[in-house]
Amino acid sequence: MNLINVSPVRHRSIYNFCAGPAVLPDPVLDQIQSQLKNGLNGMSPFSVSHRGPEFMEIVERSEFNLRTLLNIPSDYHVLFVAGGASMQFSMVPMNLLGAHETADYVVTGQWSEKAFEEGLRFAPMRLASHAGPEFNRIPAVATWQINPAAAFLHYTPNETIDGIQFSEIPKVPLPLVADCSSEFLSKPMDVSRFALIYAGAQKNIGPAGLSIVIVHRDFVGLASRGIPSLCDYASYAQTQSIYNTPPTFSWYIVDLVLQWFLLEGGLTEIERRNRKKAQLLYAAIERSGGFYSNRVPSQLRSMMNVIFHLPNSALEDAFVAGAEQRGLMNLAGHRCKGGIRASLYNAMPEAGVHALIDWMHYFQEQNA
Ligand SMILES: *Cc1c(COP(=O)(O)O)cnc(C)c1O
Repeated sequence: MNLINVSPVRHRSIYNFCAGPAVLPDPVLDQIQSQLKNGLNGMSPFSVSHRGPEFMEIVERSEFNLRTLLNIPSDYHVLFVAGGASMQFSMVPMNLLGAHETADYVVTGQWSEKAFEEGLRFAPMRLASHAGPEFNRIPAVATWQINPAAAFLHYTPNETIDGIQFSEIPKVPLPLVADCSSEFLSKPMDVSRFALIYAGAQKNIGPAGLSIVIVHRDFVGLASRGIPSLCDYASYAQTQSIYNTPPTFSWYIVDLVLQWFLLEGGLTEIERRNRKKAQLLYAAIERSGGFYSNRVPSQLRSMMNVIFHLPNSALEDAFVAGAEQRGLMNLAGHRCKGGIRASLYNAMPEAGVHALIDWMHYFQEQNA
């Protein structure tokens, strides 16, 4: 039976730079393929009970591996929540405001701006700092206007659309909340500095629709009565995130990706590779004599999402079209930002970056 026409040929030379849903590791895709029909005790991973032994193994192992990879202290809950990272824009204020009337937000790009706007639906949130309009800088922490009465401070360590990344965790006298979606598990991080971190899976660790929330136990159960059970972190913490049917297939894939990270040597090794990839690409931009340009100060340049521009948008369109013919996919910048964006998440091999740099050289020779 052929439901859809899918070419069985794997094009090994395709490199997909999509910002999300992002590329998954080849060994993970191979394993999914081999298990899809009956790989879980004779059953498809689509169709195992979320309370049965096959899925409970996935639940236990994925949490254990996540704790191992990030060295998560035992007083933090690890929650698997449906709805994507944007769902957390709402769940964080619903759960963490508690008796407070407001919270602080630091806006350094398009995603933190969205989080702030969503927060305003719940309470008169305050801007501790706003880096606009170009989003190519991060104001020094000493200049942030922190409100000591705020319930928490929310920021976005890596801005996926703007290609700007904090190089360290800011020191602030408030419980810290971070939207880590596009840098999650790209390097080690000190979870104990945070009240809560969250990440949508589709940037680095799986398919879209599922998020990981890591929250200190003091920040669970603060929600006022009247919020939906499915928006209450306590519902997840009390049920191993199986309050209702979770997105089982996405969770199964996240479990495979976490195993792959461990097999590859853990987050120290993964960070080493990610740094190398980003350094190679930024160096190629620098060496182009201005043909390719990046407007973010070097110490703030994202290791995950590399943004650059060509002298005009006609050249950018030609660059993207020619890249696709060479199997370099999804290089157009975000629709509201333009330019080129190459996302170098964990599953992007260094060979993909070399292929991109080769194309950049060739295109510059033809068009400079
Ligand atoms: C992609 C992204 C989001 C939105 O994720 P959804 O799963 O689409 O809700 C939020 N924050 C950051 C930093 C992102 O990169």
